[in-house]
Amino acid sequence: MPEPDAELLSLRNRVNDLDQRIVALIAERFRVVVDVAREKAASDATIRDSERERQVLAAVEHVARTQGAPVNLVRRIYRDLLAESVSRQVSSRSGVQREVALRVAVRGEHSFGFLAAQKYLSARDVDGELVVTPSYQAAVDALKAGEVDLAVLPIENTAAGSVDETYDLLRENEVSIVGEETSSVDYCLCGVSDLPLGAISQVLAAVDGLEQCSRFLQTLPNASQILHFDTGAAMRLVQAGGDATHVAIGAAEAAAAHGLVVLRRGIANHAENYTRFVVLARHPVAVELSAPCKTSLILIARHEHGALMRSLGVLAASGHSMTKLESRPRPGRPFEYMFFIDFEGNIADPRTADALDDLRSTALHLKVLGSYPATSTRGDAQPGDATPLIPPADTDVPESIAPPRPATKASKNYRLAGRGARSDDTVIPVGNLLIGGAGFLVMAGPCSVESADQINATARAVREAGAQILRGGVFKPRTSPYAFQGLGWEGLELLAAAGRATGMPIISEVMAVDQVRRMAELVDVLQVGTRNMQNFDLLRELGKVDRPILLKRGLSSTIDEWLGAAEYILAIGNQQVMLCERGIRTFETSTRNTLDLCAIPVLRELTHLPVIVDPSHGTGHRAYVAPMAKAARAAGAHGLLIEVHPDPDKALSDAEQSLSFPEFLSLMRSLQTVAPVS
Ligand code: PEP
Ligand code: MN
Repeated sequence: MPEPDAELLSLRNRVNDLDQRIVALIAERFRVVVDVAREKAASDATIRDSERERQVLAAVEHVARTQGAPVNLVRRIYRDLLAESVSRQVSSRSGVQREVALRVAVRGEHSFGFLAAQKYLSARDVDGELVVTPSYQAAVDALKAGEVDLAVLPIENTAAGSVDETYDLLRENEVSIVGEETSSVDYCLCGVSDLPLGAISQVLAAVDGLEQCSRFLQTLPNASQILHFDTGAAMRLVQAGGDATHVAIGAAEAAAAHGLVVLRRGIANHAENYTRFVVLARHPVAVELSAPCKTSLILIARHEHGALMRSLGVLAASGHSMTKLESRPRPGRPFEYMFFIDFEGNIADPRTADALDDLRSTALHLKVLGSYPATSTRGDAQPGDATPLIPPADTDVPESIAPPRPATKASKNYRLAGRGARSDDTVIPVGNLLIGGAGFLVMAGPCSVESADQINATARAVREAGAQILRGGVFKPRTSPYAFQGLGWEGLELLAAAGRATGMPIISEVMAVDQVRRMAELVDVLQVGTRNMQNFDLLRELGKVDRPILLKRGLSSTIDEWLGAAEYILAIGNQQVMLCERGIRTFETSTRNTLDLCAIPVLRELTHLPVIVDPSHGTGHRAYVAPMAKAARAAGAHGLLIEVHPDPDKALSDAEQSLSFPEFLSLMRSLQTVAPVS
């Protein structure tokens, strides 16, 4: 290498000197910020002061303009500085452990996610080991398996929009959002040494780089594009390959780490390119009340006119501003949507907890993904002031979208299940049917699925007689361990096939926590049997799935205990619960149980949830099923659950109470003559 001339040397020395002064000033700024934080903590002031941040940004932009510095660059640097100050203050107040090294999963070495994870850790002064995974799914799997403590995934990019895969992973997996990191994504063209663009023969990059820089790449006349698994691998190849006409795409930091020089900056399709990443952990974190905080959730709106607006109205009315609303298709329900909502609020704040309760009763399903320190504002994610999607907190919310709150008899065992939380009846969609409200329907089928022939014949017969939902037990809670225990998963396949063949949704009993997810994929309604009404772990797990639940009354449970059990499911998030009266234990022995028909009007008064009656288990005798079914309809039930078998006397379970096909047909006919007594 030739000796640099004296003039160049002296210029470089001046640059070195300036760099030292810049870094020394940044260090001094952070020392002052520590004092500011101490003052704020002493007066319990909130950490984030958006007005002050705006003033700081405006002031430095003004200086940049008058001094001839690039305004965009200065704004970017200052946004990072401010975000770093806030996160340092948050972690110093919430006492984040600094001494432990965290393992953090990211997709791809030296990807922007990799850099965001580094930034997240350094802002908290935490040592970390980054674990590179081949996909976002693999990062979440490593998290769930306990191989890493955190996973950092991109959630939205200002140019490319939302990252659908991350949203789907959040829906499908039990993980919590515990942080966010917004990074400016400045794609650079990097090589071993400077060369004219026309001389470039190969561009090596990961898939996002090729996609997000597609326009620039089209302007390279002689370059072929080579896809690499990650930026790190692409850069290593360029460095080791010894061909100066091969270049890579990635962050300037990645180039520096691989000894490459930046040939061209800002080559992404859009100049202001930001990505917001979410930091995931296995469990939620508690965030200091004084820290700026966001909460993310997944909401499925009810099937009612204006339901989504009512939900958003709850947030507006309680003074929570929404920072993001994103819709995704609802799996298994074509042309229905679920909504991902971010808003400024903290679950630990009673005001937010109350708003979430109200939100639950406006929704069919609500999953809280977590509350976490906010490091981005709307301005960060989308430069320029976004128009608010909902009325600001201080505008009056019209009556029609305010949550209903009539007074009613209250019990401390339940809130969401009570009429106080919701005066309108809950209506639950199952396939094309609606359960609850003014509707009435019949679910029928064998106590147990016994064979393909048995379930197919029964499905056809009950369908023809007018039943709308097919029942069939495959996991049977039998009093004796020697009695028929059900066909298990194979039986469920038979039930599902019979349902498909006759066009009926299916219902079947779930007995254990570890059956819930798999069963929810296969059945339309999950039944909780009488013996499991207070299996609280099971109820909590059912609160997490997006499937209607039929909760049978415990055989010696009071209505208050029963509604308390329903509340377990509602409180976790699933609002699609119907109650099924199936008889209780009394001193009476002439029937198997005592069917408590009085529970119907009591429930209709106390709760908005649909009420179903099962006269088969309620009586235990074939002959009494029809009269009790008619009485249940007359008393205001929303539906019936009836056991039917092709050859009742040979049924492997509950033979005495099962109806034959002709008996069921005659019951269905006689039901038509009954009108609810209002
Ligand atoms: C059933 O429906 O087959 C059943 C077992 O019901 P229960 O839980 O009401 O006894
Ligand atoms: Mn039964």
